[in-house]
Amino acid sequence: MAKGLSDRQRQILRILETSSKELSGQELHKLGCELGQSMGLATVYRNLRVLQQAGRVRCRHLPSGELLYSPLERDVHHLTCLECGTSQPLTSCPVEQQGLKLPTPEGFEPLFHTLEVFGYCAKCKPE
Ligand SMILES: [Zn+2]
Ligand SMILES: [Zn+2]
Repeated sequence: MAKGLSDRQRQILRILETSSKELSGQELHKLGCELGQSMGLATVYRNLRVLQQAGRVRCRHLPSGELLYSPLERDVHHLTCLECGTSQPLTSCPVEQQGLKLPTPEGFEPLFHTLEVFGYCAKCKPE
């Protein structure tokens, strides 16, 4: 496993895999420091990008513009409230259930997908 990855990339991947939740670059940076594996924020982001290109890490955007990262294997999607920003996980992946039925151009190799649903939670729903 983790063949062809640098030590830094393996560190980041391990932190993501042991975390129960998605992590931002900032949080990864902070956790790395706590584990005595400190690396600069720019290094974290650069390696996250490599991990994404290697198909090992997925990320999603929050309405705030923040990016959250998780291991590729974690196929979880979220319903996010536009008002308060809270995210609730979907209990299953609709893409996984139906298969990725896309008119994929010839030669394109899909690595992962993201699916985000935005709206208002019960608390913030406009009257
Ligand atoms: Zn809300
Ligand atoms: Zn999915």
